[in-house]
Amino acid sequence: MTAWVLITGGSRGIGAATALRCAQAGWDVAINYARDHAAAELLTSRLRASGRRALALQADVADEAQVAAMFERLDAAGGPGARLAGLVNNAGIVAPAARLEAMDMARWRRLFDVNVIGTLLCCQQAARRMSTARGGAGGAIVNLSSRAAEFGSAGVYVDYAATKGAVDTLTKGLARELIAEGIRVNGVRPGIIETDIHAASGMDAGAAAAGIPIQRLGRAEEVAEAIAWLLSDAASYTVGALLDVAGGR
Ligand code: NAP
Repeated sequence: MTAWVLITGGSRGIGAATALRCAQAGWDVAINYARDHAAAELLTSRLRASGRRALALQADVADEAQVAAMFERLDAAGGPGARLAGLVNNAGIVAPAARLEAMDMARWRRLFDVNVIGTLLCCQQAARRMSTARGGAGGAIVNLSSRAAEFGSAGVYVDYAATKGAVDTLTKGLARELIAEGIRVNGVRPGIIETDIHAASGMDAGAAAAGIPIQRLGRAEEVAEAIAWLLSDAASYTVGALLDVAGGR
């Protein structure tokens, strides 16, 4: 029996670091990505070189049909005896820093579609496969939120922060809904981590370091460590937790 973990937005940043950490922990790893096929293929080569099985699955997590097809591709490619035992809802986007009055509907729709609906769609597909009430063998889900859910990101992206508030609420509710069916749901709330995501907002992440108690930005590997622990049996009694990985912020 091999256990697969699916990591959405796994081709770069926190998702890629999580993929490598999960392979090290003995998972077979499927990474989802939106556009960057080359980055996804390069990472799957590295994962295979570490001795694990690996798949790259292109899909826009905001699209119901694409998400369903992605899970079906994983079902088919997983191999005999394989099962989906882990899901990391990591795919997420920000938008250019702005005040509320300068934002528009298209931006809000896309942020909520990717960050919230994408998480809902993937949780639904995973729960259908993992639930012991449906013949599954249980599993673990980790949702990527943000410390922004707490602070609200005034003046830069209150809309992004609101999507992460929704992810927190969803995490707590689903954790209680699914634990009796063998599925542990938890969340990780990173602070400011050095990844490409900040280019999309125009935020000078480096300048923010001085305002963080630990006096530096976080590394993707430091977030991956928390995600891998929540996925593992070592976290067997941890249900509905929101784990801050934020240097004291
Ligand atoms: P990143 O470096 O920008 O990487 C984003 C990943 O998500 C890429 O693999 C990208 O694929 C994928 N993606 C984007 N839109 C997608 C879609 N619609 N469908 C499928 N995949 C999609 O991001 P990151 O900084 O690692 O952030 C990862 C998560 O952590 C996000 O949920 C983010 O909100 C959260 N977070 C990050 C920070 C931070 O400071 N970095 C702080 C708090 C929370 P392509 O390369 O193919 O586009």
